[in-house]
Amino acid sequence: MAEKKWVYLFSEIEKAEKYVGGDWENVRGLLGGKGANLDEMARIKLPVPPGFTVTTEACNAYSATKQFPEGMWDQMLAALKVVEKDAGKKFGDSANPLLVSCRSGAKFSMPGMMDTVLNIGLNDASAQGMVKLTNNERFVFDSYRRLIQMFGTVVLGLPDEAFEDVLDGFKKDKGYKADTDMTADDLKLLVEKFKVVVKKHYGKDFPQEPLEQLKLATEAVFKSWNGKRAVDYRRATNISDDLGTAVSIVTMVFGNMGWDSGTGVAFTRNPSTGERILYGDYLLNAQGEDVVAGIRNTEKIATLGDPLPEANKQFLEVVKTLELHYHDMQDLEFTVEHGRLWMLQCRNGKRTALAAVKIAVDMVGEGLISKEEAIKRVTTDNVDTLLHPQFTAETKAKAKKDGRFYASGVNASPGAAVGQVYFDADLTEKMHKEEGQDTIMVRPFTKPDDVHGMLAAKGILTSEGGATSHAAVVARQFGVPCVVGASSVVIDLDKRVMVWNGVTVKEGEWISVDGTTGEVYVGKIDLTVPSIEEQTDLLTLLNWADEIAGMQVWANSDYPKDARRARTYGAKGIGLCRTEHMFFEPARLPIVQRMILAKDDVTRKAALDELLPFQRSDFDGLFEAMDGQPVIIRLIDPPLHEFLPSEESLLEEVITMRVKGETKGLAEKENLLEAVKGMHESNPMMGLRGVRLSIAMPQIVEMQVRAIFEAASDCTKRGVVVHPEVMIPLTGHLNELKWIQPRLIRIAKEVMEEKKVQFTYKFGTMIEIPRAAVVAGELATLAEFFSFGTNDLTQMTFGYSRDDAERSFLGRYVEEGILPKNPFQTLDQGGVGKLMKMAVADGRKTRPSLEVGICGEHGGDPASVAFCYSIGNNYVSCSPFRVPVARLAAAQAALDPELAAARKEALKAYVKK
Ligand code: ADP
Ligand code: MG
Ligand code: MG
Repeated sequence: MAEKKWVYLFSEIEKAEKYVGGDWENVRGLLGGKGANLDEMARIKLPVPPGFTVTTEACNAYSATKQFPEGMWDQMLAALKVVEKDAGKKFGDSANPLLVSCRSGAKFSMPGMMDTVLNIGLNDASAQGMVKLTNNERFVFDSYRRLIQMFGTVVLGLPDEAFEDVLDGFKKDKGYKADTDMTADDLKLLVEKFKVVVKKHYGKDFPQEPLEQLKLATEAVFKSWNGKRAVDYRRATNISDDLGTAVSIVTMVFGNMGWDSGTGVAFTRNPSTGERILYGDYLLNAQGEDVVAGIRNTEKIATLGDPLPEANKQFLEVVKTLELHYHDMQDLEFTVEHGRLWMLQCRNGKRTALAAVKIAVDMVGEGLISKEEAIKRVTTDNVDTLLHPQFTAETKAKAKKDGRFYASGVNASPGAAVGQVYFDADLTEKMHKEEGQDTIMVRPFTKPDDVHGMLAAKGILTSEGGATSHAAVVARQFGVPCVVGASSVVIDLDKRVMVWNGVTVKEGEWISVDGTTGEVYVGKIDLTVPSIEEQTDLLTLLNWADEIAGMQVWANSDYPKDARRARTYGAKGIGLCRTEHMFFEPARLPIVQRMILAKDDVTRKAALDELLPFQRSDFDGLFEAMDGQPVIIRLIDPPLHEFLPSEESLLEEVITMRVKGETKGLAEKENLLEAVKGMHESNPMMGLRGVRLSIAMPQIVEMQVRAIFEAASDCTKRGVVVHPEVMIPLTGHLNELKWIQPRLIRIAKEVMEEKKVQFTYKFGTMIEIPRAAVVAGELATLAEFFSFGTNDLTQMTFGYSRDDAERSFLGRYVEEGILPKNPFQTLDQGGVGKLMKMAVADGRKTRPSLEVGICGEHGGDPASVAFCYSIGNNYVSCSPFRVPVARLAAAQAALDPELAAARKEALKAYVKK
């Protein structure tokens, strides 16, 4: 059997490809990103110094046995011979020595691993040889002292200070300020001093034998894979422990050989804006990391041609070649030695969200990549980032420096907000509406009747609750930046202050909330606000996404304003309009309460008649905003007591009035209290709500359907094209639909006859109770559409009450790996998803034209969008702010062959109608 190959020369990339089966990702896995790209550059004839790479497999073997695997060292020695030949120098030779660097490189670029050691191979003898060769004593001894220092700290693990202290002391004695003040003799002396440091801390002499230097450095790279820094980094970024790191040994080229030499780093395009302009810096007469280290002022890459015209010309060619080759923006490291260009690294460059979109779109225009490739390259997080107001890293760093950091919690809804603090919803709304203030609503937690305050707020902060608490869900829905569960903040609602770590913020004072990171600052931090209309590249990309997706994205919008926003964000319909928010508005709530408390049908009817015009105008605005597109309106869903004051607060009021002897209005309050008590349910989530409420009190939904169809008729007459879809919530049994739906359809027809107009409409149901999913085939005999209410469906399938689960055990479940993710954020495909898949299939068996969507929060979560795509949804519906994200996610799903195949299968029975 042939010996296992642990070492690949830069010229042996074909062998590596063959070994891993041809796939480039696997080549990167074997040789590390750095090694693989060095090989690739060599293959396309770019100037790369000769070298070789020890594989990640060797690293893994080393990790297992704590010694080099058999044959590895011999293979390194053999490779070194080839490199010596190519470079025309000899490793360890005193007359014409080859020096090398030892570089670590895993499949994914990983800060946290061993730092590169340059100038390996230098010792007392070869230093002399180099002096003769270069006639530059200063350069040689500067290189030598750097080697001892790097080798000492990186390979031998000595503390940085051991060298820094000696260096600083030396400079001080001589009265020097900068390293460059040191003469050749100084550096010679320093080399001796550094040797003493090594001896003292390491107990042995600095290894003079070049091969020993190489061996120890290689071993140190292997060891660094399991070092604490590297392990921590992998934990944080989900990189697998068994990848291992490769080691690349590269012939040294010297940018510090004089003023016709230099070193630099560059991006082939601007990584922060995406502009197609070379971006980077260089330094003449410098080595390695000098450019990044910022010891000297660097020059802009655009001026490289002045001192080094030939090298610059060659470099511009390289830039072009590499972009054409990799079809992506590259991050480059190069060195010029005596006017000659050497490439030392290339990789796909990291970039901001803005740059990611611009580069992807530009590259399609340049013919470098396809639209599909552009869609795959931009991440949904990129899109999200582009649409939320932001603090910049600089401004936040400054605020931190100024001691304005306040507290941190769960980053519940991304984006940044600056405003004045108010501790209740009414005041938050009032100060916003009447005083025109930017407000931040701060509460221990929020409830449905806080929504008006949340809508008026620029940002929300709570001290309790998790990522799917009411505050978090509503905030995301409306795109309000929000931090929840900042548990170390103590809110005193009586004194109207909050305190954190001794810092008190009073009502009306300014704070800044970063919902992207979960941080809160005292005072104002500057904001940048993005608008989608101005982001033409993003719009272009999203239009391509729509062409590719084959599944639409709709929006959950309760108000015309949201609907209009949803449309600018690219929604193709409204998937959920929740009618109960409309009931909470101050002008309407008293009427709603009168309707609820009515003792007889006549009184109730009168109250409903009063509500009708309000509802009609709500729907009118919505239809108009969505002209030509479907609008799904959900009939009233929550239990009625949500529209009444709470039992506790009423009781308190009644007792206070009694104690104070106040009689005016007491009887009314007492009656109200009795009514509220009478409505008490021990588990309202599973009580009288949804379709059950409609059956118990059909007048409410009859009024709503009338309002919907009157508005739709009026709109039609005005030339607005309407497609109303009436959604019945919380159905669990076909007989519920049988009872309510025909009554509602009768009203719809009545209205159209009265108004003498015709338009298409649908009646359908939400699937949010497991039983509904199980009997979906039956429900589809009446329902013309299904919409998965995955918030409730998740609660009921798991049997978790969401708020309780969030508060008490879900976090631990995820930590312990009992659940892979919070199922309220990312759809549980194995359970809830299975029910959905079955419901779609059974429903379409009954009714091939069944329209299927999702309106739970999952509709804006990329992984859940992909799942909905695979089971054959016609659309997903999410918060207007998530629409662009969902559009991209849908297209990315369509480009995944497995998901696309699953969808094709799921859509077999479907007939468009
Ligand atoms: P990192 O992963 O931190 O970028 P590198 O291995 O790329 O580490 O090396 C650090 C610095 O040393 C870079 O500036 C690189 O260009 C430079 N460098 C590495 N090897 C050589 C070499 N053989 N000749 C000259 N410079 C080198
Ligand atoms: Mg580094
Ligand atoms: Mg590098």
